[in-house]
Amino acid sequence: MNCPHCGYNDSKVIDSREINDGIRRRRQCLKCSNRYTTYERLQPAGLFVIKKDERREEFNRGKLLTGIRKACEKRPLPSGTVEKIADDIEAWLYRAGKLEVPSAVIGDMVMERLKELDHIAYIRFASVYREFADITTLKKVVDALASGKPEPAAAKNQLPLLSTEELEELAKKRKPEERVRLAQFNSK
Ligand SMILES: [Zn+2]
Repeated sequence: MNCPHCGYNDSKVIDSREINDGIRRRRQCLKCSNRYTTYERLQPAGLFVIKKDERREEFNRGKLLTGIRKACEKRPLPSGTVEKIADDIEAWLYRAGKLEVPSAVIGDMVMERLKELDHIAYIRFASVYREFADITTLKKVVDALASGKPEPAAAKNQLPLLSTEELEELAKKRKPEERVRLAQFNSK
């Protein structure tokens, strides 16, 4: 965004506030010091996820929710936790303003959040997402979690801990999507 007064392409944000469907930022040009305002709004369509095999798929909040819900099933988490994680990630994605995001980036964000919230949910999500091949790999991650050290690097070409059938069974117990919400800006 260029300064409307002098055309310079850099500014500092001096004030930022949430409005109905986005963020209003008051900026000051780093060259001429004039002030101007920008509005950042949600763009609900047009964000694509780059899958492992390089295929592109439109970002789908429902799919993100389903993945997190499976991991959090029957865990003692406050209601709304799953939705909050999905909201935060979605808001971050739109805020980042990219047209394409690798699925691994989204997966890592979920892992990071679950690690703070609930270790069992974290391990469940990791077992599907990281596709642990065997109990040894799983044990390494659990040990790393218990000792507070960084987890070992993900191994490739492995089978999920839960079978597809088990995951589908879990998915069937879900309520249908209550509603589709636009991302909300939860942070400044
Ligand atoms: Zn200027």
